[in-house]
Amino acid sequence: MSPEPRTFERAVFLDRDGTIIEEVGYLDRPDRVQFFPWTIDAIRVLNRAGLATVLVSNQSGIARGFFTEAIVDEVHQRMAAMLAEGGARIDAYYYCPHHPDGKLREYAKKCECRKPGRALVDRAVQDFGIDPARSFVVGDRWLAVELGRAVGAQSVLVRTGYGASEEEKPGEVKADAIVDNLIAASSWILGRL
Ligand SMILES: [Mg+2]
Ligand SMILES: [Zn+2]
Repeated sequence: MSPEPRTFERAVFLDRDGTIIEEVGYLDRPDRVQFFPWTIDAIRVLNRAGLATVLVSNQSGIARGFFTEAIVDEVHQRMAAMLAEGGARIDAYYYCPHHPDGKLREYAKKCECRKPGRALVDRAVQDFGIDPARSFVVGDRWLAVELGRAVGAQSVLVRTGYGASEEEKPGEVKADAIVDNLIAASSWILGRL
């Protein structure tokens, strides 16, 4: 989905699986999308604070042949509809379809957009004029924290999804905050504005 032509100074770069929606392994059907109970409130709070909400997601299931880009787009359309019902909005949905060990040749490569690579953040910089150094990254894996470090953003690890087990095996970089879930991450971010 192409972003609306808006500009934002600051963004929250949001991981998808395990952060916004329940981690269910490879999500191959839109009807398997399940928000956490706090997801819509958490995103609405960020919207109202004037932050861009930008989804950045590794979807190697495409490269592995488990589902297509069209399915991922359907998943995101379903998420957008559910958010809209709750008066919330994700401003852009970006994902990496690649993986070095992918089965499908057109997606089997080492790319710049697979997190912690920064290419998806750079796309948001282009599309919205965002300053990553004044922005935030939220995710349930250390690679989200690494992405935050790479672009100069503040990073929050959430304990949902894989987050609790990630917390047990500290990564090479330190998160600016480790919190229980996305609504706690939103509160933490608001306190930093
Ligand atoms: Mg995740
Ligand atoms: Zn990629």
